[in-house]
Amino acid sequence: MSSSQSSVPWFDGFVGVAYRYYDLRMNVVPLFTDRKEATSIWHDIIHPWIDPSIKIRFLEIDDKYWFIMGSDSQKNDTNLSFFKELEKSENYERFKKGHDGEAYLRLGVYAKKSLDDVKKDAVCSCTHEARDHDEGDGDACLFNTCTCKTFSSFQVNLLKKKKIITDIEFLEEKDVKKDPLVWNCINANKFSKLD
Ligand SMILES: [Zn+2]
Ligand SMILES: [Zn+2]
Repeated sequence: MSSSQSSVPWFDGFVGVAYRYYDLRMNVVPLFTDRKEATSIWHDIIHPWIDPSIKIRFLEIDDKYWFIMGSDSQKNDTNLSFFKELEKSENYERFKKGHDGEAYLRLGVYAKKSLDDVKKDAVCSCTHEARDHDEGDGDACLFNTCTCKTFSSFQVNLLKKKKIITDIEFLEEKDVKKDPLVWNCINANKFSKLD
């Protein structure tokens, strides 16, 4: 790793990462809540990245993982590296098994939907449909056994532009010193769970 890359600032101002099978490849989709922010991050930071130099690392610690992403840039003075601590999910495990060494990188815009925004068959995070939620007080779920107090679901819109990633690795804590990007991230951000 070049010394210029170890001085790249770290950015964790995104809300999560989605994994979607789309356009024949798995897509890794860092999520933003604001479309303008996602568009400008793409334009200013990710667009100047050189595809074969983009690295994505998944550092697994128990039931969580750290998403870590960085690249050499054609605009080194404004470059950023990305990191976020996330919960392992079914989609994450599906990506881990199915990526086959390649993925598309896209950015996504994450929108929360309330009961007023959705059709009757939209599914709540409690797994019950919108029609099962009371449109009166608090939108609570009407299933006897359900403790859901407010309907909530979300929608992810993928931005069209994409990069192809071919440098993907899954690491455990014992591997961190072997990987310069991960080691640099740990030192820069002082992960609370690592000594
Ligand atoms: Zn619900
Ligand atoms: Zn429910």
